[in-house]
Amino acid sequence: MTEPILVNVTEEIVSGLVRFLLHGTDYQTFCHCNYCETEITADVLNKLPTYYVANNEARNEAFKQLKSPENIEKINREIILSIYAVGKNKNHA
Ligand SMILES: [Zn+2]
Repeated sequence: MTEPILVNVTEEIVSGLVRFLLHGTDYQTFCHCNYCETEITADVLNKLPTYYVANNEARNEAFKQLKSPENIEKINREIILSIYAVGKNKNHA
């Protein structure tokens, strides 16, 4: 039996996508620091349903389900809204 894990698969997917988008050419003028990236990720995660799994098999299954093109598009829309929301506030110097 494999070791149990406790992972929110939504969080894994969202953090990867936030990093990817934020460092892409579209958002060059936005802050890329760790602080802002984490703020954006937290903001997006508060808007999306969690998807916890307790083992790797379920994790792979969840990845397959959550990574459908429609779902990724929906997540990307939320990320873009959050990038603008966080970018509007001057959170740090
Ligand atoms: Zn920043």
